[in-house]
Amino acid sequence: MKTPNIKYNNDVSSAEKRLSHLTKILKNAQESYYNDDDPSISDGEYDKLLLEYKNIEKEFPSLLDSGSLSQKVGAKPSSKFKKVSHQKAMLSLSNAFEENDLAEFDLRIKKFLNIDLKETLEYTVEPKIDGVSLSLLYEDGNLIRAATRGDGQEGEDVTQNALVIQEIPSKLNFSGVKIPQSFEVRGEVFITKHDFNLLNISQEKNNLKLFANPRNAAAGALRQLDSEITKKRPLKFYAYSLGHCSHDIFTSQKDFLENLAVFGFLVNDLSQTVSGVPSLIEIYKDILEKRASLNYDIDGLVYKVNDFLLQSRLGERSNTPRWAIAHKFPAEEAYTTIEDIEIQVGRTGALSPVARLSPVNVGGVLVSSATLHNEDYIKGFDSEGNKIRDGKDLRIGDFVRIYRAGDVIPKIEDVDISKRSKESKAYLFPRSCPSCGSNAVREQDDAVWRCSAGLVCNEQAKERIKHFVSKKAFNIDGLGDKIIDQFYELGWIRFPHEIFLLEQKYGNSSYTKLSEREGWGKLSAENLFESINNKRKIGLARFIFSLGIRHVGENTANLLAEYFTSFEKLSNSISSCRFDDSSNDLEIHNIDGIGSKIADSLIEFFSLSSSNSFLLGDILNEVKVVDFEQLKTVVSTLTGKVIVFTGNLKSQTRQEAKAHAERLGAKVSSSVSSKTNILIAGESSGTKLNKAKDFKVKVLSEKEWLSIVFENE
Ligand SMILES: [Zn+2]
Repeated sequence: MKTPNIKYNNDVSSAEKRLSHLTKILKNAQESYYNDDDPSISDGEYDKLLLEYKNIEKEFPSLLDSGSLSQKVGAKPSSKFKKVSHQKAMLSLSNAFEENDLAEFDLRIKKFLNIDLKETLEYTVEPKIDGVSLSLLYEDGNLIRAATRGDGQEGEDVTQNALVIQEIPSKLNFSGVKIPQSFEVRGEVFITKHDFNLLNISQEKNNLKLFANPRNAAAGALRQLDSEITKKRPLKFYAYSLGHCSHDIFTSQKDFLENLAVFGFLVNDLSQTVSGVPSLIEIYKDILEKRASLNYDIDGLVYKVNDFLLQSRLGERSNTPRWAIAHKFPAEEAYTTIEDIEIQVGRTGALSPVARLSPVNVGGVLVSSATLHNEDYIKGFDSEGNKIRDGKDLRIGDFVRIYRAGDVIPKIEDVDISKRSKESKAYLFPRSCPSCGSNAVREQDDAVWRCSAGLVCNEQAKERIKHFVSKKAFNIDGLGDKIIDQFYELGWIRFPHEIFLLEQKYGNSSYTKLSEREGWGKLSAENLFESINNKRKIGLARFIFSLGIRHVGENTANLLAEYFTSFEKLSNSISSCRFDDSSNDLEIHNIDGIGSKIADSLIEFFSLSSSNSFLLGDILNEVKVVDFEQLKTVVSTLTGKVIVFTGNLKSQTRQEAKAHAERLGAKVSSSVSSKTNILIAGESSGTKLNKAKDFKVKVLSEKEWLSIVFENE
């Protein structure tokens, strides 16, 4: 996030106006933050506005009145709980947004302490948990009082609620170690992401209001008047700092954290001690990367001067310590406008809408596009007719909120309809392909419009070639998307198999040479031909995947390869089926894990009338498909048999039973047909058992099945 630094150049009246506007927003946000557990603006936005506020104060000290917002930590506590004064004020931390801010922080400290600027200082690094701060007062090892931060001086007494949180010891374990007679342990009450999801699921079930985020849920739970309710909420606690302390027993933050663990507190395992600013930046980058995968929300890191002696020499300013700083992570949410909606054509002809956004920084990454999925999503409804974004549609020119978690594709969370111009029109999803102009078709029960032109459509053909060479398919090095676009436009590669004809047509002994094209040389051309030739042999599963058959992903390709073992068997079995033949007797309908959608798609692909049969022949002229190698099987009475499981097996899961059957050389099918050899019937077998009798299929009990398994162990 960029630091807002608007200069007012002595224009007091506009500065004052802006200041009063900011005061209103910030006060509002503070109150809702501390009292209602329901945020009015995001944290990132809050920090940004507060910084702007402080900058104006700095530029115009005359505008600073006694009630200046930036000198107060938070709002006054609400009145539900008894107010208590902290033994030592609970300060907030000053923020760093950029790496420069850290160097300045380090420099300020050295100057203050009058130490050599070349020396490196030792810091502790701790993740800044996004929860609710809590101060615990212990006397002689017993928890006497727990208080929320409140305004930093005075908080609320929530001792009864703190006592029901498992990670907060009511009695400290201090056998063998010294303990101050009286001291405050501070930390963060929070809810894990996992527990938060479960909590909201149960709220929804009970028709209760959903929590906006884990922190609000934690804040609400901690401030319940009935601690029985608090007890039911999955609150956790990380301890991390020392407040008031009657005896100077701890020598450093590191020493203190180690003691906390001994006392029985949970200390965050990402906490560490390092020297110098470059190490801080390194850890920052490392943890920022891990952020999305952590099971709790963090909004930055806290750096503290490790040595307690130095900490006490440094002391504090009005409400922030000089020896610590919070390094904030960039916000994961941002606002921007939809500049355009583009339609991309996929390899199966699917028309996918993409929002082109005014570029905006979200969580440290510049985002300029977001997927819009399909027509219904733009209209504000999902495939089952449920509302998305409260049923608000999306239009070109709309002001939208973007959300991005980890490396997940950015999503449009919400749209601000109040900012929509009067001229804006609802988006009309195209009824024809933007690439080839052919009719688009939307089938029943499918949210997707598709170009009906098949491989005649340039865009589909190109996407199919890109899929063909992609990592999980032929995995051909040096044939990136841009090069395929280029070769396609040149007419060199229009169909997948033509990749393997490149050298023959455009090699060094040809009239037209790749090596003579701009951007290419003899060596790079040879390298490309070599990496293509290296891939003339391919495993069956990869090959099936590379064909880009609709609904056939990596897993399905593996299943098919395992079942059929050779491409010949696969294509013979499937091409003998007719598309309109829905009888359950077809082999393809009986493979465990292959649903009817996939089966139909395969039958369509392999049907003789389809243009794919020419395509396949051309490809098979160029490459050798290596048969699937069966896992080591045992020759048994089941070898080569088609078996079906039904009912509940008591001793094995269905998955385990299937694995045993395959090891014994059997094929496992999901339904009983005339091709079935054996039905293994567990408890409460129903229709399949009756059907097996009709087909005169041999039926085995679970006991008989197990004896075969053990015989061949
Ligand atoms: Zn098209």
